[in-house]
Amino acid sequence: MGIWPFSIEPKPGCATKDRRGETMQNFINVILPIPLEKLFTYRVTQDEADFLLPGMRVAVPFGKSKIYTALVNEVHTTPPEVYEAKDIHQVLSEHPLVNTIQLKHWQWIANYYMCTIGEVFRTAVPSAFLLESETLILKNDRAEVDEMSLKDDEFLVFEALQHQSSLKVHEVSAIVERKNVLPILNRLIEKNVILLKEELYEQYKPKLVRYLRLGSAHTSEAGLEKLLESLTRAPKQSQVVLSLFQLQAVRKKPIKVTDLEQTSGSSKAVIKSLVDKAILEEYFIQTDRVNYDGEDGEYDLKSLNEYQEKALDDIKQNFKNQKVTLLKGVTSSGKTEVYVKLLEECILEGKQGLYLLPEIALTTQLIARLQDYFGSKVSVYHSKYSIQERVEVWNNVLDKKPKAQIVIGARSAMFLPFSSLGLIIVDEEHEGSFKQFDPAPRYHARDAAIVLANLHGANILLGSATPSIESFYNAKKEKYGFAEITRRYGNVVMPDIELVDIKEQNRKKRMKGHFSERLLEEITETLDAGEQVILFQNRRGYAPILECTTCGHSPQCPNCDVSLTYHQYKKQLRCHYCSHNIALQESCQACGSQTLDTKGFGTEQVEQELHTLFPKAKVGRMDLDTTRGKYGYEKIITAFEQQELDILVGTQMLTKGLDFRNVNLVGIMNADSLLNFPDYRAHERSFQLLTQVSGRAGRTKKRGKVIIQTYNPYHQILKQVSTNDYDEMFKEQLYEREQYKYPPVNRIIKITFKHKEYNKLNDAADWFAKGLRNVFGGSVLGPEYPPVARIRNQYLKHVIVKINHEQSLVKTKNSIRRIEKSFNAISFYRSVRVIYNVDHI
Ligand code: ADP
Ligand code: ZN
Ligand code: ZN
Repeated sequence: MGIWPFSIEPKPGCATKDRRGETMQNFINVILPIPLEKLFTYRVTQDEADFLLPGMRVAVPFGKSKIYTALVNEVHTTPPEVYEAKDIHQVLSEHPLVNTIQLKHWQWIANYYMCTIGEVFRTAVPSAFLLESETLILKNDRAEVDEMSLKDDEFLVFEALQHQSSLKVHEVSAIVERKNVLPILNRLIEKNVILLKEELYEQYKPKLVRYLRLGSAHTSEAGLEKLLESLTRAPKQSQVVLSLFQLQAVRKKPIKVTDLEQTSGSSKAVIKSLVDKAILEEYFIQTDRVNYDGEDGEYDLKSLNEYQEKALDDIKQNFKNQKVTLLKGVTSSGKTEVYVKLLEECILEGKQGLYLLPEIALTTQLIARLQDYFGSKVSVYHSKYSIQERVEVWNNVLDKKPKAQIVIGARSAMFLPFSSLGLIIVDEEHEGSFKQFDPAPRYHARDAAIVLANLHGANILLGSATPSIESFYNAKKEKYGFAEITRRYGNVVMPDIELVDIKEQNRKKRMKGHFSERLLEEITETLDAGEQVILFQNRRGYAPILECTTCGHSPQCPNCDVSLTYHQYKKQLRCHYCSHNIALQESCQACGSQTLDTKGFGTEQVEQELHTLFPKAKVGRMDLDTTRGKYGYEKIITAFEQQELDILVGTQMLTKGLDFRNVNLVGIMNADSLLNFPDYRAHERSFQLLTQVSGRAGRTKKRGKVIIQTYNPYHQILKQVSTNDYDEMFKEQLYEREQYKYPPVNRIIKITFKHKEYNKLNDAADWFAKGLRNVFGGSVLGPEYPPVARIRNQYLKHVIVKINHEQSLVKTKNSIRRIEKSFNAISFYRSVRVIYNVDHI
């Protein structure tokens, strides 16, 4: 794959003639990475038309002065009807960047999730492939320059342009040694010395590694002997040459400079002098940044126990019937080992395997596990990776390189250019983070993966200990195949879950901070036994609200309708919606009183209380604030794994499938905020979250213990969690969904309206909702404000459209689109943003 833009010389007047002697012109339809409803058409020459294929990149002019990277969708000879097609700017790639299966998949996503294919394009490919315009400075060849009229700094730029055809702004900065060069450039433009050019450039630069080999004059046996003789009086240099032989003999692989330094024990200077004398020769190989250092196939696959075997058989049986299959296996039942077996078979058939995970918190442990089995055949792809790394994985998948036979990644990994996908695994399929919330496409990676598998004729397995109501419903209706593992691996029993009534404890004044007596007892016992503890609180920061006890004022975000969260470490009040923050105030801003108190509590406060209650214990915290940066998670997870920490406090990040050997107690600080969340899925989610976090306890030998603190110990969901009764939970939740016509019984489309003016938003949302009611009657809910009704100075209102399964989804969407057209025709409403979220969760 070429790195630099590949261009074909345009040949003017090369259009061919058809049989009637009329000139036939060539066009391409392209996908632009912007939300346009239709594909745009450009004119190409005959040569370009012969060369271009769907999925190749071209640079095209758009609007007044912009240049975009676009993707060829179709090459044809039909001119556009309503506009004169422009010429493309340049061909950018020699080979298609995406294949036709992907283009079909993108089209499905755009149709289903009600967005444009351009938006899918922008999300799907690494941004490095979407070239940016950057200003280039060129010398103006047509002008006669009077050198004497130039100031010193202007002359420097002029002179530099005599040697270089173009300069970038930052290069000019370096030449004149100052930051702000725009005034200089302006003067040079006025004096007709330079021109500015909008140019495209590639952001991606492959990382090159320096290798050494023997200079070509010395490779023959005779040459070699002569060389060694000549070096007898330079023992250091001859040592280097000998070491190079040695390394070459054992490794039969290219020798890195650093390796040679180490083996020969010599300095950079010695090696450099050998290079200067052409005894050694330097060369460069492009390498990938993500490398696996171990040996391939270091570990053997584990043999499955009888329950895993049975599940594996059932899965394969379902695959034979081309069914999407759900694997429901309790926490720690060894689902991952089953996935590994399937992946192994998939790559033995020469196909590619994709392992999707909800979030990257989990990947650290899993990558290591998969690499133990599959060595360098595993690639990783997710948003915390740099652009460069993502480009490398993309190219490896595109070129079907062995190292990308198995890709593990978050939802965007689904967009990689697979050409022969054999298996997709969607692990923790119930996780909400598989759904992209913002921006469009607001797709559900699990559902879009099912469509992708279909397009490839690949197998797809959804796995979870706590399947989503949808997937379990589909399995019950036999739309999906089903397999199950009901026992933990090694017959470890499920943890013992105890509910603790904190209302009662409060009344009896038995609470220490946010800890009940029972929880404290259990923590003490666990720590004494040398085991580890996980504590879960689904809020970060110290406290969500800081309140004046005199006047009741609490600091609010100026941009959002929400209180500022108190962060004690940074002595800050922060908004969790827009990141607005202010320094902590010592006294009330409203009344000046110093009696400030906190309401509610977050992970910081739990951590702080632990320091007082268990001064000897080493406490770590895992939440958004402590896991920033690429290796944020890794550090904390590793420290806990290595038992450098005794207690880990964290938010829902802790729940995602982590496998710790020595954790015997899990404490839920407060289950109520989960249960009371205003959403029809709150109960399902609480069950999943509490079951998953409980599943971190006692995974190896003895039975784990879970303490759930709550004001509401008789809540049916908590009962179902403590008796591990998924079926009962499913039955009750399904009944409620049927009553209120929510998924999986109905589909829903959530329409969000957004505007900075409160009144306009209200009017607009009402108008739109009325239009919807005219068509859909009682299946329209709202408009309603969400719990946080203003974010970043934009007011929000929602309308929900429920669609039953007899109704045509396509027709429904078309009706909604028609209403939107009339809506946009009203100029007063045009500035209101309308956002569709299909299958909103
Ligand atoms: P799950 O994904 O279902 O929560 P895991 O796959 O993480 O469970 O398995 C739990 C633990 O049991 C892991 O430490 C794993 O290595 C171990 N394990 C699972 N299956 C086997 C097996 N067949 N042989 C040996 N160890 C196993
Ligand atoms: Zn006050
Ligand atoms: Zn805010």
